[in-house]
Amino acid sequence: MNTDVGSGTMKKSITGIHHITAMASDAQRNVDFYISVLGLRLVKRSINQDAPDVYHLYYGDEIGSPGTAMTFFPFGKTARGTRGNREISHVAFAVPTSSQYFWITHLLKQGISFDGHQDLFGETVFTFPDPDGMLIDLVFTEKHILRFPWHNSIVPAEHAIKAFHGVTMNLAAKDPSVAVLQGVLGARPIEHVKNRYRYVIGTGMDEAMIDLVIDPSLPVARQSAGSVHHIAWRVSDDAAHEVWQKTVAKNGLGSTDIIDRFYFHSIYFREPGGILYEIATDNPGFTVDETLDELGAKLVLPPWYEPHRKTIENALPPIHIPNSTVTS
Ligand code: ZN
Repeated sequence: MNTDVGSGTMKKSITGIHHITAMASDAQRNVDFYISVLGLRLVKRSINQDAPDVYHLYYGDEIGSPGTAMTFFPFGKTARGTRGNREISHVAFAVPTSSQYFWITHLLKQGISFDGHQDLFGETVFTFPDPDGMLIDLVFTEKHILRFPWHNSIVPAEHAIKAFHGVTMNLAAKDPSVAVLQGVLGARPIEHVKNRYRYVIGTGMDEAMIDLVIDPSLPVARQSAGSVHHIAWRVSDDAAHEVWQKTVAKNGLGSTDIIDRFYFHSIYFREPGGILYEIATDNPGFTVDETLDELGAKLVLPPWYEPHRKTIENALPPIHIPNSTVTS
């Protein structure tokens, strides 16, 4: 794989995960879970730019920092996806190692049953599904720091989700996906247990773990509610982004042009194992059209959709933000 785009341009590294986007069914159930169970803040209530009758809900730390942004398209009444290859099967969030008792108590109080007996590469992991069956791992780890705690979270800052820990990708074959993940994006292999191969991408406190689970006997996943739609890798600025667009295109991965997503700039391409990748910029971020206090409180539209606000609002179900204050 050719990672040199020539012309003497210094290519800046992928610094970690920018955001992860998944599909959901009921919008209110999604809001209730991510705020009241995971303790994240709804930082943006917008629309799917490719289907404006569907919300795009963004959750994260207080400002929706890159590396914390979990986003959803809630399609309403829709069937659940099924797990299998060619998809991200688990989304992992990092929580402090000292917070196990808090999370056991909190999850039980919220009526969430979880599998709490896994140890992956030396870290304890609790696994449970979100309301649409998307599998969430809480990884108790010293890695990551919570830079912007949300002071209204139901989860006290000392126990809160710090950032994405990483993801698990289910694949039928390892080598073609590694050729892109390592050969183009610059991820590094760390270790493996049986058919689980761990890679790290990014730098310092922003690095993320990518586990490839290789099992050719699995069926191909069917994407619908509860399925991860894509993962966005993170770059620092527009200049770096343009270089990455050329790098991806030059490696024959069929990148889109740069798309203005208003809160960041994006390119998309599908890696050989079938998973949709995006590369997104840190800038301009979620405070480009709302103040820090206002984030997520009302429907915001990219300016080019504003003339259609009434029609869009009428097509979307109302959502209510649950009471979310620190309880302990
Ligand atoms: Zn995205």
